[in-house]
Amino acid sequence: MLDIKVTKTATPKEKPQGPLGFGKIFTDHMFVMNYTEGMGWHDPRVVPFSDISLSPACVVFHYGQEMFEGMKAYKGADGETYLFRPEKNAQRANESNKRLCIPEIPEDIFVEAVKAVVKVDEDWIPTAEGTSLYIRPFVIATDAFLGVAPSKTYLFMVILSPSGAYYSEGLAPVGIWIEDDYVRAVKGGMGYAKTGGNYACSLAAQVKAHDAGFSQVLWLDGVERRYIEEVGAMNIFFKIDGKVVTPMLNGSILPGVTRNSVLQLLREWGIPAEERRISVDELLEAQKNGKLEEVFGTGTAAVISPVGKLRYKDDVMTIGDGGIGPVSQKIYDTITGIQTGKLADPFGWRVTI
Ligand SMILES: *Cc1c(COP(=O)(O)O)cnc(C)c1O
Repeated sequence: MLDIKVTKTATPKEKPQGPLGFGKIFTDHMFVMNYTEGMGWHDPRVVPFSDISLSPACVVFHYGQEMFEGMKAYKGADGETYLFRPEKNAQRANESNKRLCIPEIPEDIFVEAVKAVVKVDEDWIPTAEGTSLYIRPFVIATDAFLGVAPSKTYLFMVILSPSGAYYSEGLAPVGIWIEDDYVRAVKGGMGYAKTGGNYACSLAAQVKAHDAGFSQVLWLDGVERRYIEEVGAMNIFFKIDGKVVTPMLNGSILPGVTRNSVLQLLREWGIPAEERRISVDELLEAQKNGKLEEVFGTGTAAVISPVGKLRYKDDVMTIGDGGIGPVSQKIYDTITGIQTGKLADPFGWRVTI
């Protein structure tokens, strides 16, 4: 067991009334742990949420050496607090850390840190249907040095944000822009890591898509701009002629925990599910033949995000009747049911704090 020192705030904030939105409100506490070369990770602590003071010369500000994770805590109807597959986030954090030359965090320590701060702020977990406590673990490089080299000191922090129901009136389909000019990642780059740089490089296309009236960008491969990769902060699935397909993990795609859970569910239900290369031409062809039945994104924030419209150059494909497909709905109901304790958990995904 990790010896986590807890200092509670003397001035707890008012809990939010009204709509929570996403990522705007933070709880009373945060987890902090330092890394120093030669000492390793040390001084794990839960402290009052506050601004932090850093040298303007810190490596993270200039060269982007950082990684982050995204996960959620849920309040069950039974009053218990649940996490969803936190060990997967701990493993992926270390894949990102390795790619970015950040020292690894032992997986049990990562999970204990998350549990410790969530426990302290447990009464911040919203309970209305579809709401949750978003958890943002992250590491930043803190050496005050302008040379390009891995930092020798780091901060690992976990902050918490109560978040509202993504879909207040049921699953709402989104319009997606298939980007054929900018690219997000290439094999050998850091596309499989969860790191700010991947997002910085996505903003220009995101702005372009928004200006054209689409809510998110779907990336194509960086070499031929022909094969589907993923959407902004979601992996992507297509149901074509009764089969579900998703791009295989190829080094430039983020291996989503939701993606992995969806594949396991589909296989459990006997719905054929393939991980392979999918070209944009294959989608256009399937659409033309009336075989593109459902399209949905998967990620922690929304769980399932049905896609109603896909734009590629001069083509705008409307998927199905522009509503939510039955497979998308079933996956959403099952995963959220498991997360909140409403459904049985045959895979052992739910973790009680
Ligand atoms: C976090 C993320 C996802 C989704 O991963 P989940 O573990 O399912 O939340 C997909 N793509 C990118 C680029 C991401 O950063």
